[in-house]
Amino acid sequence: MVRVGLAMLQGARHEHVQALGVASKQLGLDVEIVELRTGNQVDDRLDCLVLPGGESTAMRKASQSESLLSALFSWIQEHPQRPVLGTCAGAILLANPGDDMRSFLRAEISRNAWGRQRDSFEADVTLSLETPSAGDFSPHKASRDQFNHQPLPVEISENDREELFPGVFIRAPRFVQSSIDCTPVAFLGEEIVGVLDGQCLALTFHPELTGDYRFHRWLLHQSLLTN
Ligand code: GLN
Repeated sequence: MVRVGLAMLQGARHEHVQALGVASKQLGLDVEIVELRTGNQVDDRLDCLVLPGGESTAMRKASQSESLLSALFSWIQEHPQRPVLGTCAGAILLANPGDDMRSFLRAEISRNAWGRQRDSFEADVTLSLETPSAGDFSPHKASRDQFNHQPLPVEISENDREELFPGVFIRAPRFVQSSIDCTPVAFLGEEIVGVLDGQCLALTFHPELTGDYRFHRWLLHQSLLTN
């Protein structure tokens, strides 16, 4: 059983629930998703974490009353061997935890650096990360959850284009290329758009909005290896 802690502050969190559900079936793994809303839900029994994309300022504000972010950052510090997936705003939080905390990434990130919301785009990203294969489970279209959310898959089926990944960049940040001193794992042309530092995987795009669950499988698989 893998227990995944998912930060439910704001943003594309329901899509991560869906993606983790499919990824767990693809790997034939039992997974419990712990929806984290307060700091005191963050405990040692979590095997890995997901910090979704959305709006990092809104997330910081939403965290204030229940101290979720500070608990998550302490957890990451205390469990450097356990994997963390931060997508878009989640990557911003990993790079800039705030409150005088050291970055979890040896890379600087610049918010909204592609421009405004209307400058959002989709483009193929090249991957350089080993991810476990999907087995023969194929996902069905996601149905609505109890909050009436229905994830919007950009691409229904995972394609088998090997290193290519459907990158969804929504008012995305950019890594300051000259600052990157950890492992690049995703590229948009020449530009690095995903990095791995220790067990923290930070992507400036939104894999949870696609039907390609490689990063979610990586997280679950990595959780097994490190526990
Ligand atoms: N622009 C957002 C921020 O600065 C990130 C965008 C996203 O997560 N899609 O927090």
